[in-house]
Amino acid sequence: MQKGRFGRYGGMYVSEILVQALLELEAAFERIYPTEEFQREFHELLRDYGGRPTPLYYARNFSRRVGFKVYLKREDLLCGGSHKLNNALGQALLAKKMGKKRLITETAAGQHGLATVMAGNICGLKTEIFMGIKDIERQASNVERMKLLGAKIKPVKSGAGVLKDAVSETLREWAACSRTTHYLVGSTVGPHPFPTIVAAFQSVIGQELKKQILEKEGRLPDAIVACGSGGSNALGAFRPFLEERDVRLYFIEGGGESLGAENSAAAFKLGSPGVLHGSLMVVMQDEWGQIRPSRTRAAGLNYPGRGPEISYLCETGRVKPGHALDDEVFEAVRLMCRTEGLIPALETAHAVAYVLNHPEEFKPDDVVVINYSGRGDKDIETILRYFHGSA
Ligand SMILES: *Cc1c(COP(=O)(O)O)cnc(C)c1O
Repeated sequence: MQKGRFGRYGGMYVSEILVQALLELEAAFERIYPTEEFQREFHELLRDYGGRPTPLYYARNFSRRVGFKVYLKREDLLCGGSHKLNNALGQALLAKKMGKKRLITETAAGQHGLATVMAGNICGLKTEIFMGIKDIERQASNVERMKLLGAKIKPVKSGAGVLKDAVSETLREWAACSRTTHYLVGSTVGPHPFPTIVAAFQSVIGQELKKQILEKEGRLPDAIVACGSGGSNALGAFRPFLEERDVRLYFIEGGGESLGAENSAAAFKLGSPGVLHGSLMVVMQDEWGQIRPSRTRAAGLNYPGRGPEISYLCETGRVKPGHALDDEVFEAVRLMCRTEGLIPALETAHAVAYVLNHPEEFKPDDVVVINYSGRGDKDIETILRYFHGSA
């Protein structure tokens, strides 16, 4: 396969100014990432700061309810409450070794912004975070947290004042100052080499998972289920299993209230190939190629594109795409609370809901792993509003 391509997806659809910065990043990653020194420092940070390895938990009560064995890969226990820190630490360390002084990024709900300023502080880099003005209003408490940690917040008024506009603004800023600044992309999206770099840093999830399931079950799982939009937690879990043809892989998107509803984010059902933020991938778009924003209640599932690698894996059939609807998602939250005493992030609850609602996909002697991408503390208000509204 051509470098930076996953089948027809991927590539580097950016202005000439950015090509230089991307090639510099590609070369630095290829030179620095495999070295023993980098691997040691990265894994030390993941362990001592992040809390890795995260446990693989056999969810007995939940398993009894669904009728087959379900394990949870506990990324909710990573420092910060989701898988996002794996990638932020990796890229911040890489940026430091490249001699950069400053990190920029964008965030919607604030989870990736928080992970970035945490990693920036550890590596001694200044952090600036671009955020749509609508998102700043909606996520006031995470904005305060990021400021407390020392991040500078840059409000983005252009477009609809949401995530996709903040990404465009960050790319523009990067073009102007890439000599001193690294753009810490938060998911397996954007131009090459970002999708490859982010998946490499997140693969620690799947590497641990493989070892842990072999210890606990003496065999590989029958299926791994992950939620996603850009695809970083899913690819992190899937990558070490791509060649293991007997392991079924499921990628679950935000279905919204229904597939016809305004808030649906089921891009593999509703989208088509197009270019977004420098990469060819499956995107939600109208007939003119304008991006169709989605508004699922799980903020982390609202990016309108599916990264090039997950787009390719779904197209070839190696990964099966699916979606969960809002009612199913909140039911999944309730069941996870009652059976295991865990409040999942709304994103994560999509993977849980899919397992609950697709008995035809699983057999009684199956071993299924849910990549439990994050905890639900950030979503408490939304969850309570839903249950009180519908009660
Ligand atoms: C951000 C986020 C996601 C979605 O991002 P991916 O890059 O597709 O993994 C999923 N779950 C949680 C908890 C998140 O914070």
